Amino acid sequence: MHELGMCEAIVEAAVRRAGDRKVRAMRVRVGGHPVDPEVIEQGVRMAALGTVAEGAGVDLVLEPLRVHCRRCRAETPVNSAVALAACPACGAVDVTSAGHENVVLESITVDAPAGEAADGVADRNVQHTPDRRR
Ligand SMILES: [Zn+2]
Repeated sequence: MHELGMCEAIVEAAVRRAGDRKVRAMRVRVGGHPVDPEVIEQGVRMAALGTVAEGAGVDLVLEPLRVHCRRCRAETPVNSAVALAACPACGAVDVTSAGHENVVLESITVDAPAGEAADGVADRNVQHTPDRRR
């Protein structure tokens, strides 16, 4: 299944980035993909079983694909591939798609390395999401 392959790639990227540290959370950006977010989330959790990312939280950032119309200059978020064929605003077919078209690992949150106290190693944490800092 296509989604499962994407989820495995996400987990692989997270595991690579984490090294041997336990992954607490993964932030995943889903761009322009009209999929059910729950499918991605469950797929990532399943793919993470048996890895350092097992049990990690999955934080999805959904980003709809947009079409940019050369005629009326509207840039419209779309949620189906059919809408990519014509501008939803004026019906022109002279459109280009904008935005991402894939699922990427944006950031991960990991535990401090094993054997070290939680405090004093903050600089060694992979922490790209300050708003989620504990
Ligand atoms: Zn248009």
